[in-house]
Amino acid sequence: MSHLNYETRLPLGQATIDHFMGLPAHPSKCQATYVWIDGTGEQLRAKTRTFDVKPKYVSEYPVWNYDGSSTGQAEGDNSDRYLRPVAVFPDPFSGGHNVLVMCDTLDNEMKPTVTNHRQVCAAIMKQVADQHPWFGMEQEYLIVDRDEHPLGWPKHGYPAPQGKYYCGVGADRAFGREVVETHYRACLHAGINIFGANAEVTPGQWEYQIGTCEGIDMGDQLWISRYILHRVAEMFGVCISLDPKPKVTMGDWNGAGCHTNFSTSEMRKPNGLTAIFEAMKGLEKTHLEAMKVYDPNGGQDNLRRLTGRHETSQADKFSWGVANRACSIRIPRQVADEAKGYLEDRRPSSNCDPYLVTAMIVKSVLLN
Ligand code: ADP
Ligand code: MN
Ligand code: MN
Ligand code: MN
Ligand code: MN
Repeated sequence: MSHLNYETRLPLGQATIDHFMGLPAHPSKCQATYVWIDGTGEQLRAKTRTFDVKPKYVSEYPVWNYDGSSTGQAEGDNSDRYLRPVAVFPDPFSGGHNVLVMCDTLDNEMKPTVTNHRQVCAAIMKQVADQHPWFGMEQEYLIVDRDEHPLGWPKHGYPAPQGKYYCGVGADRAFGREVVETHYRACLHAGINIFGANAEVTPGQWEYQIGTCEGIDMGDQLWISRYILHRVAEMFGVCISLDPKPKVTMGDWNGAGCHTNFSTSEMRKPNGLTAIFEAMKGLEKTHLEAMKVYDPNGGQDNLRRLTGRHETSQADKFSWGVANRACSIRIPRQVADEAKGYLEDRRPSSNCDPYLVTAMIVKSVLLN
């Protein structure tokens, strides 16, 4: 274990863990970890069960139940909620036949719970499937200790001003690379389309990108990649903050977003730039509606982040531009040069629900 441990965790336990985790995989049995979004719309929960043989298709995984009164999703006197498997990934933590199973959540009448936005998103993606909507999401986050103190920050006062940390190399500017690299490998093992990773502007802040993913796959993959990130951090004794502007960073520090890149087959064709310009009209029309679902607190979280400073636009104003990072929507320079490609919606907060964000973009651009 590395220096990331703040308190010595399981001091003599590592050899024991290595022994048991290193035993050969069971020849047939499968541990399936069901993962779901809880009542906050932001935090993940998970529980594990054994199958005698690994199911072949996602449809073969049984619906399971859980105690919704302990996750902010039910009252105690009517607490059972259902987990419906929607996507399966190889489990990078326990290997073998084991899997991570992304689930959506249903109430006692088998209707989506309040924070289950997947079902609506899937229906919207189905409507526009012939236009092949592609997404890529840039997940920014801050590594913190259990007291929410950012990694690499002095216990009193502040680190040297930002400037040297973005894509930085060296022990005085890159804090927590172990977490980043472990997460990257774990995502590859899980079959996730991880596009890349980089150190970000604020010390202890990092980014990875998932994509491109088509349709509903974007939400499923980003949520599982977040689960993997929280689990990796847990192993190092640190935590992941997806707060777009943690209190300690309220001064002159960049916040965290989840830029969402989007294209249709039309936009990717020669002269697709015309369709990209066209998309701005729809995106402008839904600006206020979008801002309400681009963070899990009705737009309140993003008010702290989208101030018009620190490479952001203003929350109450829609704007777009080529290569402009102070806009709601940016058209990357290369896309403008090639006259085809994709657009970048810079408004979603780091703690956004990708099902809500991708559905809102499709609604704005294609169903308006
Ligand atoms: P930035 O320059 O904004 O930091 P990144 O390199 O971090 O961009 O991320 C680029 C993202 O764009 C990736 O997630 C990638 O999957 C996505 N992307 C690339 N091409 C397309 C496309 N045609 N449609 C949608 N997303 C795309
Ligand atoms: Mn029990
Ligand atoms: Mn990026
Ligand atoms: Mn970034
Ligand atoms: Mn970006």
